[in-house]
Amino acid sequence: MSADDCIFCKIAAGELPSQPVDSDERTVAFMDINPWTRGHALVIPRQHSKNLYEIEPADLDATMRAAQRLAKRMRDSLDCDGVNLLNSCEAAAWQTVFHFHVHVIPRFDDDPLRLPGAPRDPEEGELAEVAAELRA
Ligand code: AMP
Ligand code: ZN
Repeated sequence: MSADDCIFCKIAAGELPSQPVDSDERTVAFMDINPWTRGHALVIPRQHSKNLYEIEPADLDATMRAAQRLAKRMRDSLDCDGVNLLNSCEAAAWQTVFHFHVHVIPRFDDDPLRLPGAPRDPEEGELAEVAAELRA
């Protein structure tokens, strides 16, 4: 997907409707159209980049700062009990819109969200082996 036919570029440019909640020189935040909880929002850099692999460091910094700002506003204005940040990088990791974005999801003690996977015990030697692969 190029920036030309990217829905989040169009939202950032005001060419598609959204419910904006915050913006600065580098970022825009708006409500997710299919919220997981009440207040679920997305923060995007104005500048198109596909995902975590490709985003410029300055845009990544600005997006994470905007996400922190929004999390605090959710705490103060929505009275949430916590916040999840979620970023998906590539389809295998559930990315469906290929313009970098961070989900900012207010959490409530009684909300219905559950982790989609269960932690497991590692295989014998797995942690040392994979750590060596990552250090290489
Ligand atoms: P992801 O699966 O991490 O790529 O998340 C994409 C998110 O974008 C989903 O949560 C969608 O609900 C949301 N989304 C898609 N189109 C729009 C739109 N036009 N306005 C707001 N949110 C959108
Ligand atoms: Zn884009």
